[in-house]
Amino acid sequence: MSVTNGVAYDEGNIFARILRGEIPAKPVFENEFAFAFHDINPQAPVHVLVIPKAAYVSMADFSAKAPAEFQAGFWRSVGEVARQLGLEGPGYRLLVNAGTDSHQEVPHLHVHIFGGRPLGPMLVRHD
Ligand code: 5GP
Repeated sequence: MSVTNGVAYDEGNIFARILRGEIPAKPVFENEFAFAFHDINPQAPVHVLVIPKAAYVSMADFSAKAPAEFQAGFWRSVGEVARQLGLEGPGYRLLVNAGTDSHQEVPHLHVHIFGGRPLGPMLVRHD
């Protein structure tokens, strides 16, 4: 399943439920803007998700509608999470899926942080 930009926010999505404490997560960071936790199906030795503590479906929704101060606070938090994970030295990759072509599965904006090994090419080629 994937989600399309422009859809209404679904309060029942899995990350909304994690934010409300209805579903457990392994937290790594929290402040007024963001909550970060380990991905349930890690694709690298470090695979952490950072989500805004507000109802935004996708990057399109967030970038268009979130107040500037909140956007700044959120992105600063993403950098802080990577720093606290010790990834600044070896390096890391950020990934945000947005909408259908990206195969975004959870309709609450989330930033993937990958690290802990050389991460290889940026995209899988299909040609
Ligand atoms: P997307 O494909 O939407 O960019 O990424 C969704 C991510 O959420 C996937 O990497 C998936 O493993 C992760 N995920 C889905 N459900 C849960 C959950 O209940 N808990 C955690 N921690 N991660 C989840």
